[in-house]
Amino acid sequence: NAPTTRRPIAPLPDRLISQIAAGEVVERPASVVKELLENAIDAGASRISLRIEEGGVRRIVVADDGVGIPAAELPLAPLRHATSKIATLDELERVATLGFRGEALASIASVARLSVTSRTADAGHAWKLDAETGEIQPAAGARGTTIEVLDLYAATPARRKFLKAPATEAAHCLEALRRVALAHPDIGFEAVNDGRAVEPLPAGGWRERALAGLGDDYKSAHRLVDAEAGGLRLQGVLGAPTLNRARADRQFLYVNGRFVRDRLLGYAVRQAYSDMMHGDRHAAWVLHLWLDPSLVDANVHPAKTEVRFRDASAVRSFVFHAVQDALREAHRPAGGSAGQ
Ligand code: ADP
Ligand code: MG
Repeated sequence: NAPTTRRPIAPLPDRLISQIAAGEVVERPASVVKELLENAIDAGASRISLRIEEGGVRRIVVADDGVGIPAAELPLAPLRHATSKIATLDELERVATLGFRGEALASIASVARLSVTSRTADAGHAWKLDAETGEIQPAAGARGTTIEVLDLYAATPARRKFLKAPATEAAHCLEALRRVALAHPDIGFEAVNDGRAVEPLPAGGWRERALAGLGDDYKSAHRLVDAEAGGLRLQGVLGAPTLNRARADRQFLYVNGRFVRDRLLGYAVRQAYSDMMHGDRHAAWVLHLWLDPSLVDANVHPAKTEVRFRDASAVRSFVFHAVQDALREAHRPAGGSAGQ
């Protein structure tokens, strides 16, 4: 049946465009946490704190001691497609920062109340931007940036309905923190959930942090992998096949420091474990894959948890063999204690 009336084609208002885009970037409070933590890392922070209230729905605060944002640029931070991280196609193709789309703060601001307080090294004091009003005021604060997000989805009740209980959302937020922390052992993280401090992941190298992230059981039952071939490097901790799990809830894959989900590589690791583990069980592992940024594309989805490899089959084969070799070594009779 043909429509009897039609409306003229018209560009959508900016705020509505951001609200539509926010559906992809800000799925739940944990997505906000991930984006804010990534911004803090891109800012070169050495300490990052996360505070959440009511599962992050009521309040999320991420504070860092990074380079900060100059007062003159503060109003630009929550603008859609405004970024300090890339400026050209060439830079996009070899991007090394976690962010580059200039979308997160804009999306968050469209579905929550956002404020950004920041101070650069050469500023006499901090400045605070209220993204709703665009007002900027002098504020207290040391060098770095504090971003506060209040009342997520308050204005979009349809989305709010999809949220789970606060405890579940809080668990997702803390999982987002864990994912980031595992990839950045040099950064100190602290978290407070509804006023209670969350036990932090220990400082030290990525190995200590990975083991803490996997769980105490794995401390004496793991293998290290560190392999390099053809410009690819794989480092990580492989949980012993005997400590397999019913769910694949302790598998952390990073590509150039970015947490990703990759079916192909997940499958390669699974295959490498396959002759030591039952098919319906899951291994626990933390793997960091490093390669030339121009050989991998993170610009697949706004949440950037998917990547595309220029040569996927070479990467898959490398990961499979590196993991298999490391696991086989563990089974050599005179191989010493697990985990070296
Ligand atoms: P992107 O990270 O893709 O650039 P965002 O919307 O997340 O986009 O952030 C926009 C800009 O705001 C960033 O490019 C950066 O310049 C600035 N910014 C955001 N968070 C921070 C932070 N914690 N420290 C310093 N600058 C920040
Ligand atoms: Mg960002």
